[in-house]
Amino acid sequence: MRNVALLGPPGAGKGTIAARVAAELHLLHLSTGDVLRDEVARGTELGHLAQGFMERGELVPDHVVLAMVRERVEGREGVLLDGFPRTLAQAEGLAQFLPLHAVVYLAVSKDEVVRRLGNRRVCASCGAVYNLVTQPPKAGGRCDRCGEKLAQRPDDAADVVARRYEVYERDSRPLVEHYAQQGKLITVDGARSPDVVASDVIEALRP
Ligand code: AMP
Repeated sequence: MRNVALLGPPGAGKGTIAARVAAELHLLHLSTGDVLRDEVARGTELGHLAQGFMERGELVPDHVVLAMVRERVEGREGVLLDGFPRTLAQAEGLAQFLPLHAVVYLAVSKDEVVRRLGNRRVCASCGAVYNLVTQPPKAGGRCDRCGEKLAQRPDDAADVVARRYEVYERDSRPLVEHYAQQGKLITVDGARSPDVVASDVIEALRP
């Protein structure tokens, strides 16, 4: 079994692609963004700590996220990390407790990211994700799966998206080179439809 991480800017489609790849290859899907949003929603100590960083589009401190990931994956095999690592320090910390066999980089331009995040709507109840242009809900404004009202993620507001992208460029993009040097990087054009991107990633990872 293999451990894999998905890299890419906010809006690259990491969550959507990770869910499909994990289901197809029977991997444990761990999204640090989803875990953190859940902690915020439940009002836990970790949630309180993370909330301000998330609202501003900043990264939650490395040691906090590393401990959160370690607790969930140490000693496991067949893990698909989505949104982690996001800094070189996280990558180095991760290497202490989980070996990565491959790192998939979903390449998407800044213009495309801004367009996608502006149109993204999510269901706070079941977690389903929509795009008003490319994957609109069937019944205007409500979730196809559970009927709840859809909303914009607070950090998808235009000013926060701009900040998230800057942070990505500064802190996370260097990971592309880091994993390329280790011979682990698989680059996939993430600007295409989720079906096509997911099937490319699955083919590249299939043992
Ligand atoms: P995401 O859903 O992956 O876009 O993550 C949403 C927010 O959660 C980010 O903007 C960060 O504030 C926080 N977050 C998620 N993953 C990490 C990580 N690996 N390191 C630090 N902060 C993270």
